[in-house]
Amino acid sequence: MIPDNLNEEDLIFLENETQKAIEDGCKECNFRHIIYSTNISVEPNGSKVFFIEVDCPSCKCDYKEIMGVR
Ligand SMILES: [Zn+2]
Repeated sequence: MIPDNLNEEDLIFLENETQKAIEDGCKECNFRHIIYSTNISVEPNGSKVFFIEVDCPSCKCDYKEIMGVR
């Protein structure tokens, strides 16, 4: 789910942070071909919280991490 009020900088930020979050693969087993999805939630104060949800087909772990806040 991507809110409509994202600007181009938000999208670039999302892309960069996603790249960093997945480059080392699964944080439990380092498996490289993880399944992931990204999410942005907008807080009442207007800040945007960028999440990634990871599902590892190798060790079967799943986790959610905050990649950054803008
Ligand atoms: Zn794993």
